[in-house]
Amino acid sequence: MNIYEDVLKRLKETRRIFKGKEKKFDELFEVFREPERIIKVNLPLRRDDGRLEVCEGYRVQHNNFLGPYKGGIRYYPEVDEDEVKTLALLMTLKCSLVGLPLGGGKGGIKVDPKKLSEKELERLSREYVRKIYDFIGPEKDVPAPDVNTNAKIMDWMVDEYLKLAKKDKQRKDLKINYLKATFTGKSVENGGSKGREEATGRGGVIILEEIIKKLKIKKSLRVAIQGFGNVGYHFAKVLYESNKELFKIVALSDSKGGIYSEEGFNPELVMECKKERGMISGCYCVGDVCDSRLGKDITNEQLLELDVDVLVLAAIEDVIHKDNAKKVKAKIIIEMANRPITSEADEILNKKGVLIVPDILANSGGVIVSYFEMVQNIKNQIWSEKKVFDNLRKHLIEAFNEVWRMKNKFKNIDLRTLAYAATIKRILEKFEK
Ligand code: NAD
Repeated sequence: MNIYEDVLKRLKETRRIFKGKEKKFDELFEVFREPERIIKVNLPLRRDDGRLEVCEGYRVQHNNFLGPYKGGIRYYPEVDEDEVKTLALLMTLKCSLVGLPLGGGKGGIKVDPKKLSEKELERLSREYVRKIYDFIGPEKDVPAPDVNTNAKIMDWMVDEYLKLAKKDKQRKDLKINYLKATFTGKSVENGGSKGREEATGRGGVIILEEIIKKLKIKKSLRVAIQGFGNVGYHFAKVLYESNKELFKIVALSDSKGGIYSEEGFNPELVMECKKERGMISGCYCVGDVCDSRLGKDITNEQLLELDVDVLVLAAIEDVIHKDNAKKVKAKIIIEMANRPITSEADEILNKKGVLIVPDILANSGGVIVSYFEMVQNIKNQIWSEKKVFDNLRKHLIEAFNEVWRMKNKFKNIDLRTLAYAATIKRILEKFEK
């Protein structure tokens, strides 16, 4: 079964919660079965040495029943249509769960961006926008950063979009701030929202703190974090600053390996060491967490199997699968990455009694603040960081409480099934209006 089918199968399992509404559920499920549009583009890239390469790119628009499609763009060598489709479907579910007037989309380019110069990266990013220009816009589809993309790349993209819009004779909406709402995750100087960069990580910490309150946990918790990019680093930093008595970050990793220390890490010191080694293309650190020479080196596999209280997955898909799930010792897993646990592994972990906070809830902070960025652009407003974070907390806690309320009502059902059910419930309510 491919990954898209796998998520659909999990979604279908929530049908049992919709007693008396099975027909409506089935109709919605049919609508969700395939994305509304799959855009596949070829992207010619002139390398600095004169060679021409062609990269494969995608934009998948899963569903826009609740509002414009919304979702990140990733640059990664393993990007393919199934992966982008799956991530777009998860975005539809996520936006509905956290009560946003947005649908689900996702984009990707199959490339290893760390092998490109800054100029090549910029040319590729601009070419991608030229190819998908007709399909995006503040009321159509709003991309954002994801794996290996960031504010700098979003700034190039929005700049290319504005150039094309100015030349477009059909357009009657040439207001710069409004048009900038076509992309979120821009730099703050270029219309980005304060707090967007750390929003996904911060959101995950808010959810973890709510879990701890509900479970009335008082003892100090040892935390391991896989992935030290945008999401993992900010999760670690916010957690470290939130309560040093309660949380100790004993392990961190990135694609090159991990580090472990019983004393605990200050994530800012680890980041400083990573950055000391310099940058590639002005976007990516050359260094890795192991360069920090703090703690002892471990592999990513070892990190996943550590005897910790909380395991935070903030890297990529499928890192916990049927072959390593039994070895996971953490009692709580926070899915900051999208779909980091395969469904076979999910079943094993659920049977073991591990509390898994699903991606569509745990990492929704990013899309919530992306929505605030769109609002600020469209309404010509600039929100303070406090306003952004207060509103982020409000949205997240509302969604979390809804899932937890269902947990108390339907005993022995895992949080993923409940979150999927909560999201479908919201969509069905709209469907019926
Ligand atoms: P990023 O590119 O900034 O960081 C990814 C991190 O994962 C890096 O530290 C990288 O070294 C590490 N990594 C990559 N492959 C790995 C591997 N095989 N093993 C271990 N580590 C590996 O990306 P990001 O924006 O932090 O995104 C991380 C995850 O969070 C992705 O699944 C993404 O879809 C999800 N997510 C991101 C956002 C956002 O706002 N950026 C929002 C929601 C969800």
